[in-house]
Amino acid sequence: MPTLVPPPALRPMLERLIALSSVSSVSPVFDQPNRAVIAQLAEWCEGAGFAVEVQPLQAPGKANLIARLGPPPQPGTRAGLALTGHTDTVPCNPELWGGDPFRLREQDGQLIGLGICDMKGFLALALEAARGLDSTRLTAPLWLVATADEESSMSGAKALRADQLPAEAVVIGEPTSLKPIRAHKGVMMEAIRVTGRAGHSSDPALGLNAIEVMHAVTGELLALRAEWGRRYRDTAFAVPVPTMNLGHIHGGDNPNRICPACELHIDIRPLPGMALDDLRGELELRLAPVAVRLGAALSIRRLFSGTGALETPAEAPLVRTAEGLTGTQAGTVAFGTEGPYFRALRESAADPGPEVLILGPGDIAVAHQPDESLPLARIPATLNLLAQLIRHYCLREAKPR
Ligand SMILES: [Zn+2]
Repeated sequence: MPTLVPPPALRPMLERLIALSSVSSVSPVFDQPNRAVIAQLAEWCEGAGFAVEVQPLQAPGKANLIARLGPPPQPGTRAGLALTGHTDTVPCNPELWGGDPFRLREQDGQLIGLGICDMKGFLALALEAARGLDSTRLTAPLWLVATADEESSMSGAKALRADQLPAEAVVIGEPTSLKPIRAHKGVMMEAIRVTGRAGHSSDPALGLNAIEVMHAVTGELLALRAEWGRRYRDTAFAVPVPTMNLGHIHGGDNPNRICPACELHIDIRPLPGMALDDLRGELELRLAPVAVRLGAALSIRRLFSGTGALETPAEAPLVRTAEGLTGTQAGTVAFGTEGPYFRALRESAADPGPEVLILGPGDIAVAHQPDESLPLARIPATLNLLAQLIRHYCLREAKPR
């Protein structure tokens, strides 16, 4: 058997992860592979005694890592803890940084580097918290899961399979300033296109004005928004209703031409319990008749695939455990995460899937910003919290599902 080389100390791990550029972007100009980060994490995990699976994704150079310490749960049971994070970062503007974004530096009690907060830093902290764990002593497994493309397509989280992760609890270390977060809204963005007919402006009968049809369409959208606001309400959120923003509209070219086409882009933020496909169906059902009535063609297309809302019940054991360990009541956030994809990792209809909590050391206010940072003072508290979560979940008996 090859001798295991344990991972380096925390600081060199952080330096290495920041140095391995892993930008993901919907724009091919900025998009980079994440395989180097995955390979590095795989090497460290192997050194720490984890069983490692690298899951290649469809896009070249992209992969997930699923590493497990300790034996898998008995079939039909769900046990143990998964600490997870995404390996990609957003693009950055190096000219706005006080130093090289890919070189970890320390300044005024902060570690600074691209991804230190959001969120490669968490992956190193999770490994550090697991350091020295004896796999033969674990009563339930500990997973380290690292995904690709969270900042762009979420293709990594979408590719995870239920059989890869029969964990009881999943903690996603996105920046929450160590406050447990159990729910967030979803997001979808749709383009609504109305097609009429061009014509000379002097005679309306010569065409069909798409802007005028869009006027009726936006009226219907606002009515639907008001209905959703009456139908759905969740006071756990600062904005307790689902929102719909009309964010971009373009139609026509010249005042003396009947506008032949008009396109509107909207953003919808659904509450937990509102399925994206249902909402798309409802949009179609409400808008299509408006266009038919006015003789125009209408089409709806997704601007991206959308992300569902996340909700882990307030009384879920993972929520209660994290509240006890942090002394902080679980809350909600306005940003989306990979949480819904982890929540959906169910092996059968009877399987409730893992409980999912968002809990990480970074501050969301510095994420996606120049000089993204992590307070050094938060590291001991994070390691302590993760060690206690590991103790809670991985040093007791598996329970039947
Ligand atoms: Zn993130």
